[in-house]
Amino acid sequence: MISPETRKDWDTYFMDIAYMVSTRSRCSRRHVGAVLVQGKKLLGTAYNGAPSGVPDCLEAGCMIAEDYEVTVVEGQEKVIKKQRCIRTIHAEQNLLLFTDRVDREGSSVYVTDEPCWTCANMLANSGITEIVYHRPYPKDTGKVTAMMQQKGIVFRRLDTYSPPPETVVMIQD
Ligand SMILES: [Zn+2]
Ligand SMILES: [Zn+2]
Repeated sequence: MISPETRKDWDTYFMDIAYMVSTRSRCSRRHVGAVLVQGKKLLGTAYNGAPSGVPDCLEAGCMIAEDYEVTVVEGQEKVIKKQRCIRTIHAEQNLLLFTDRVDREGSSVYVTDEPCWTCANMLANSGITEIVYHRPYPKDTGKVTAMMQQKGIVFRRLDTYSPPPETVVMIQD
């Protein structure tokens, strides 16, 4: 039994819920969960998935797109080919589709993974004022962080957090 003294802090509480929500995802490459929180109130949950009524990644397989990323390895610029699944609507985008603007004004989003550029851009225009994430997504960190600063949106990572093990699904990368 958990005593009142050791109960979860709010960051852990809401991130745990985001991870729980992510287990609903049916994309084998990525399980992302996001929740909308106003004050201490949970106002919405979402995960990445295909539009309802069309075959999802488990039924039809992931829809793979390839693109190229430039990274610096030991001082050398390297071009790396990356694959990602484009069948799913991202968790953050689904969250925006299924919540009301009035609920988002001044709210926080807890999301298991650092938002990609497109999601970050949409969140920045959605009324929310804080984004809290756990797993880093370094590809877009630079431009996302800069934009959040310009918008005055709190953008923070829970770097000492660890998710409930049963909510973490091994993904292919
Ligand atoms: Zn997929
Ligand atoms: Zn995204």
